[in-house]
Amino acid sequence: MRIAETIAELRTDVAAWRREGDSVAFVPTMGNLHAGHLSLVELARRHASRVVVSIFVNPLQFGPGEDFDRYPRTLEEDRRRLLAVGTDLLFLPAVGDLYPAGAEATTFVEVPGLAEDLCGRFRPGHFRGVATVVCKLLNIVHPDFVVLGEKDYQQLVLIRRMVRDLDMPIEVIGGPTRREPSGLALSSRNSYLTAEEREHAATLYRCIDMMGKSLEDRVNGIAAAEGEAEQSLEQAGFRVDYVTVRRCPDLAQPTPEDRELIILAAVWLGRTRLIDNRKIHRDAPGGA
Ligand code: AMP
Repeated sequence: MRIAETIAELRTDVAAWRREGDSVAFVPTMGNLHAGHLSLVELARRHASRVVVSIFVNPLQFGPGEDFDRYPRTLEEDRRRLLAVGTDLLFLPAVGDLYPAGAEATTFVEVPGLAEDLCGRFRPGHFRGVATVVCKLLNIVHPDFVVLGEKDYQQLVLIRRMVRDLDMPIEVIGGPTRREPSGLALSSRNSYLTAEEREHAATLYRCIDMMGKSLEDRVNGIAAAEGEAEQSLEQAGFRVDYVTVRRCPDLAQPTPEDRELIILAAVWLGRTRLIDNRKIHRDAPGGA
């Protein structure tokens, strides 16, 4: 596995592959890799002859008082895992390399509407930071494919929009969410949870899964289901940022005709913010 610490090194390696006719798939991450990340690398492998993974904890997507400083950094272990799943190149840019004028002074990418919705309401500037860094990384790597997790569903939709709006010749691929046997979605932030909280955190998925089943079985309407889910999450000890139903794939408000929907939730458990989602397929139109 090649390791590139600068943009120039990365470009030299990718250019050499291109001359040999290789295709390139790219998996951007913030490190502290778990089986969810590795499943994206495996998915990338199935699409292209070369796989590039980046590890970069992007200061621009963290708000003041968020966990940028304490975000888990486990480079040696990450490197070992990436090698084991057949990564061709690990890109480890420095903050000063990606933001030579400083993160706050950089030119940025704004995806209107979507960036202020859902998590954007609670994390102002977060999606500007995400869109900007992913745009920069795509401009550096020039992949044929970028592989992102459905775990961060709003991020996936946002990057699809950016790639389309900016005419980037890249196919965006979404990989399914990997979970613990309890149902808890794997996440680097799970390491903030105490053992007790971790057990409790699985209630989030159980709750949205029940909500999904009830909507598929049309036990109740969407607004009622959202209200019930919020109440049961609060009763279970979570502080709810939102639990809501939107339509796939654009996250607009659902209409009664929409068949492909998704439940999206963001909650706090103690000091840890958890997000998760569950898709819903309705066979026939139903009441919104
Ligand atoms: P992060 O390191 O949190 O920025 O995540 C890097 C990529 O891994 C993103 O595209 C995430 O959506 C994806 N990812 C995170 N958790 C999971 C998971 N449990 N299953 C699949 N993909 C995931």
